[in-house]
Amino acid sequence: MKCFVTGSNSIFPFFIFIFFIISNQVSISAENTVNMVEGLFYLDETPVSVEITEGKISKIIRKDRLDDPANEKIYIAPGLIDNQVNGYAGVSFSFGGSDLSVEGVRKATRALWKDGVTAYLPTLTTNSHEILLKNFGIMSQAINDPEISGSIPGFHLEGPFISPIDGYRGAHPQKWVRSPNWEEFLELNRASGNNILLVTLAPETEGALEFIRNCRKNGIVVALGHHNGSPEIIKQAIDEGAALATHLGNGCANSINRHLNPLWPQLADDRLSISIICDGFHLRPEEIQVFYKAKGNDRTIIVSDVTHFAAMPPGIYKGKEGETIELTTDGMLRYPEQNVLYGSASPITKGVGHIMKVTGCSLAEAVQMASTNTARLYGLDDRGEIEPGKRADLVLFSIENYVLQIKKTIVAGKVVYEAEN
Ligand SMILES: [Zn+2]
Repeated sequence: MKCFVTGSNSIFPFFIFIFFIISNQVSISAENTVNMVEGLFYLDETPVSVEITEGKISKIIRKDRLDDPANEKIYIAPGLIDNQVNGYAGVSFSFGGSDLSVEGVRKATRALWKDGVTAYLPTLTTNSHEILLKNFGIMSQAINDPEISGSIPGFHLEGPFISPIDGYRGAHPQKWVRSPNWEEFLELNRASGNNILLVTLAPETEGALEFIRNCRKNGIVVALGHHNGSPEIIKQAIDEGAALATHLGNGCANSINRHLNPLWPQLADDRLSISIICDGFHLRPEEIQVFYKAKGNDRTIIVSDVTHFAAMPPGIYKGKEGETIELTTDGMLRYPEQNVLYGSASPITKGVGHIMKVTGCSLAEAVQMASTNTARLYGLDDRGEIEPGKRADLVLFSIENYVLQIKKTIVAGKVVYEAEN
């Protein structure tokens, strides 16, 4: 912004400038830094201004009405935090033979910002030790990349220590499934710069309980997933410190015993939180309703579990083995040859609206499940809530028919995405 000369003839543009600042209550200076935003506070849907100083939230000001009537339907919430992102915008974090690069991670991160996600755990899935080492090595560079602005707090390792049995294993390649091995894990964690925050494993595999104990001692969160653990084994795993059930209701065989199956004990134990894929395709509405009734706001986490097909245009693509994959216009990713889902392509943002629609929960509760709870799971005290002192990771959006329209995403006080209108 140029300086104004305060002569009698030039005072008018000065007032225009002041009016512009006041009427928008948003001033953006160099490098897209923002020092104030206004809208409806996500917790109670009342007007509020949020002040930002040096990348952190400095003040929350309650007001009677918003300065700009255009903001009357704009909500302000903490940026969404996704616990399970396998790739985005054409960039896969896991595939063998892929040319994953720091630039690719930047591209995926920018696309996630556009969808209102300000932090996420890149998820590396079952693969050869060499590929996992290589990709974690690249990820360890990306995590500190200034252009990623701290949007990656750490990583999720899903597998390879999961059930080898069809159905429970899901799409994880059988040849790379193996029993938990602490030494192998330590090598992977070192390659990641000691940034693995979460391991999803099957508790019934050989050595799993001791592995969980070791994770707990080292501050690494353990989730149960892709498993067919008995009620006794699941209880022992939780006794050892397992804290989460990964994408409950998925990673499970289609036909299960009505009494003895992994769903009931994981739902019944209040010590275990759950993550659920809320894209409208992976779970029936009744499943989401029941899971939510059992676990409530405090122990439910919405994840996307997106593949790299997220943020891609609808169409026909090739999978990693050359198979034909279809991404439909409503965001379903399917494998037409077997008429099954191929994974998820919907951002966590869709899950926020979907869980409100299916369960009748409030926006505040949905955001808690898509941001606050994930931050708490890892003790990330700097994000997941709008409070003075937290990182200014914010998302501004409208909601229509349970669909969030992202207007602006702010990461550490910087506008990283702004809708055109
Ligand atoms: Zn999975």
